[in-house]
Amino acid sequence: MKDSTCPECGVPIGKYHVPGCDAEICPFCNNQLISCDCCYEQLGLIDMNKYPDTDGLPPDIFKNGLTDKHEKEWDKLLKEKGLIPYDPTTALEYDDDPYSTIILTDKHD
Ligand SMILES: [Zn+2]
Ligand SMILES: [Zn+2]
Repeated sequence: MKDSTCPECGVPIGKYHVPGCDAEICPFCNNQLISCDCCYEQLGLIDMNKYPDTDGLPPDIFKNGLTDKHEKEWDKLLKEKGLIPYDPTTALEYDDDPYSTIILTDKHD
């Protein structure tokens, strides 16, 4: 029964994750939502020619993240696209699971 709720934010299967949940999947790229760059791409913020030193982002956004206005726009885009509710069968596989890391670190082959 371990997976009947999201291990990160605790919502049950079929419910949307709490915003900012580590386990939430991006509907645009199917990767971890909080670590993908879709928000910048979808909001049209990336311009590699203009900002080559900050991954194509305007320096203030690179430094401070999205503004409230951008966050709202991104939220709207996500909802239009369709957020992905928690489902253990499509859950992200973590490479950085703290328990498996400990086991791997302690193993001497
Ligand atoms: Zn979650
Ligand atoms: Zn994405």
